[in-house]
Amino acid sequence: MTLPARPFALFISDLHLQASHPRTLEAFFGFLHRRAMHAEQLYLLGDIFEYWAGDDDIADPFNARIVAAIRAVSDAGVAVHWLGGNRDFLVGPAFADAAGLTLLQEPHLIQAGTRRIALVHGDAQCTRDSAYMAFRAQVRAPAWQAHFLGMPLAQRKAIIAGLREGSREAQSGTAYEIMDVTPQAVDDVFDQLGASAIIHGHTHRPAVHQHGGRLRYVLPDWELDQDPVRGGWIALHADGNIVRHDLDGNIL
Ligand code: MN
Repeated sequence: MTLPARPFALFISDLHLQASHPRTLEAFFGFLHRRAMHAEQLYLLGDIFEYWAGDDDIADPFNARIVAAIRAVSDAGVAVHWLGGNRDFLVGPAFADAAGLTLLQEPHLIQAGTRRIALVHGDAQCTRDSAYMAFRAQVRAPAWQAHFLGMPLAQRKAIIAGLREGSREAQSGTAYEIMDVTPQAVDDVFDQLGASAIIHGHTHRPAVHQHGGRLRYVLPDWELDQDPVRGGWIALHADGNIVRHDLDGNIL
């Protein structure tokens, strides 16, 4: 058997990195060292962090380790890209500088061979969740972000802790559990970018779906500190071939 070609790009999302989940963090470091280092490009597609209170939190030792690990991949010559999720959309230019990565706006289009692939986190396509969509519009507004980031870091962390507590309560209801992307919202992304494939995360429902001849690839979330253990990534090859991998690198 021949070794697979060096992938053009690797994609991960939804690691929800947090100090209380050390095995998930070690799996991320292992992925960066053993996999991402050998790709041409790495795309971090949102919710890599459980939350991000602002770039002045880079000095936190937990965050500093993550920044350094991403920086090592970038320094090795891999082009690293960041697309914010609903939990870490406040990652900004100072983080990008420190980690040696490029910030992307969604939807973002990439091309491999003749294939046009759209990248989004996925939360903006969950349009049936009207309460979340209203919240999203609020916190993505530049004026709201400037106001929030103007607060002391400790105050921002307290507000985020309160939001996360509310999110846990909301998730215990069945209505939130069935929330997924809306087919029309996905078609809108395909049409807007003229893409034949889309890669997103957020829903924690890893799969590949047909959308009228176009393909929607959904990334898994990562969890190695609680059962069921899960994770994985998507590889894009230079010929446009898209391959899903589990945590051990097996092809799905
Ligand atoms: Mn998300």
